[in-house]
Amino acid sequence: MGFIMDKKNRFFSGLVCRECGRKYPPAAIHVCEYDFGPLEVAYDYGRIAKAVSREKLAARPESMWRFRELLPVAGDPTVGAQVGYTPLVKCNRLARALGLKTLYVKNDTVNYPTLSFKDRVVSVALSRAREMGFHVVACASTGNLANSVAANAAAAGLKSYVLIPADLEAGKVLGSLIFGTNVVAITGAYDQVNRLCSEIANKYGWGFVNVNLRPYYAEGSKSMGFEIVEQLGWEYPDNVVVPVASGSLLTKIHKSFQELVKVGLMKEPRAPAKIHGAQATGCSPISTAFKEGKDFYRPVQHPKTIAKSLAIGTPADGYYAIQVVNQTKGECEDASDEEIIEGIRLLASTEGIFSETAGGVTVACAKKLVQSGKIGKHESVVLCITGHGLKTQEAVAGKCGQPRIIGPKLGEFEKIYEEDFGKS
Ligand SMILES: *Cc1c(COP(=O)(O)O)cnc(C)c1O
Ligand SMILES: [Zn+2]
Repeated sequence: MGFIMDKKNRFFSGLVCRECGRKYPPAAIHVCEYDFGPLEVAYDYGRIAKAVSREKLAARPESMWRFRELLPVAGDPTVGAQVGYTPLVKCNRLARALGLKTLYVKNDTVNYPTLSFKDRVVSVALSRAREMGFHVVACASTGNLANSVAANAAAAGLKSYVLIPADLEAGKVLGSLIFGTNVVAITGAYDQVNRLCSEIANKYGWGFVNVNLRPYYAEGSKSMGFEIVEQLGWEYPDNVVVPVASGSLLTKIHKSFQELVKVGLMKEPRAPAKIHGAQATGCSPISTAFKEGKDFYRPVQHPKTIAKSLAIGTPADGYYAIQVVNQTKGECEDASDEEIIEGIRLLASTEGIFSETAGGVTVACAKKLVQSGKIGKHESVVLCITGHGLKTQEAVAGKCGQPRIIGPKLGEFEKIYEEDFGKS
C-alpha cells in the first residue's frame, strides 16, 4: 500500500513519530523507520480552535463525531455515525458503598452497536480505512474489538477477518460469528495472535485496525475523554479510573484532556486530572512495573485471569501509560479473579449496570485506591466501564444464586413469600 494523500483533509496534516518527531504522510503506517517509535496523528490545533466552540458542539447530534475535528478522518465519517455519547451516570449508591462523595460511571456497556468502548476506535479506523481504499479489514483482538470490527465492517459492506485467542468467552466468539465475518481462533495468547497479524498485514496489505491503522484507531479512544468533560458540564474530574489492556485508552483519555485546552474549549487546570490504571492481577505488567517504581514493564508470558479482554502480556502503549500515570500523579492497581467478580456484582447491585470482567477490574481497583487513601473521599471520580456483562457470562455464572423453581400455583409462591418475609 503506497502513501495516499487526501486533498480534503482539513484538520490533521499527517503522522508524527512520538520519539523523534519525524513527519510522515497520513498513510497506513504505524512505526517510525528510524527509531521504531509509534506514529501519532498530527493536528492543526490553531485551525481546530477557530472551528469549534462549546455552543457549536452542543448543537450537533449526540455521537462521538461531535468532536470530529479532533478525530483523524478527512471527510465525513462513513462508518459508525451513531457511536458514542454513552451515558455518564451519577452513582450515589455505589459512591456510598466505596466511601466516596461524588462518583460517575462512563457507561460504555451500552455503546452502539456492540456494547463496548471498542466501537469508538473501530468507527474511526474503518472510516479512515475506506478513505484509504481498503476492501479487507482485520484485527487482532481479545474479543470486543473483534465484535466491533465484525459488526461495523458488515454494516459498511467491507470484508473482514478477526483473529482471536482460541480460549475466549462464548459470547465474544458468537458476538463476532453472527455478523458473517471470518473468525480465526489461534491456539496461543494474545501476543502471539498480534505477532501473526503483523505478518499478515505486511504480506496481504489488509487494513488491520490495531496494526497498520493503529494511529487512527487509537485516536477514537479520545472521544471517551471529550464526552466525560462535556457531560460534567465542561469540568475535569479529579480522578479517572481506566482499565488497561494495551494502554491505549488510558493514554488517549489523557491526550483528550490536554487537547481540550489546546483548542480553547477548556482552561488549563490548576492540577491535571489524576489518571489511574486498573489491571487484573493475573496479567498486570503495568501495575506491577508501576508499583515497583519502574518505567518499563516486564512482559507477562502466560496471562491467567477471567478478565480476558485485558489479558495483554506485552502492552504496546505500556511505556506511555506508565508515564501518564506518573505525570498526572495517578496510581495503578490490580484485582484478583475473586475481587473482579465482587466488583461486577457490586456495580450491578448498586447501580443496575451489568459490566463485563473489565468493569469488575475497574470497580475493584477503584475500591482499593479509596481504601488506601490514594483517592481522597471528597474528590470526584469517574470510572470507565468499557464492556457489557452479557458477553462474559461465564465469569459470574453460578456465582449469583439460582432461580427458585415452582409450579404455577399461588400456594407454591406463598411458600417462597413466607421464607423471604416471615409469617404474618
Ligand atoms: C480493549 C478494552 C479495554 C482497553 O484497551 P486498551 O488496549 O488498553 O486501549 C478496556 N476494556 C475493554 C472491555 C476492552 O475491550
Ligand atoms: Zn522516530
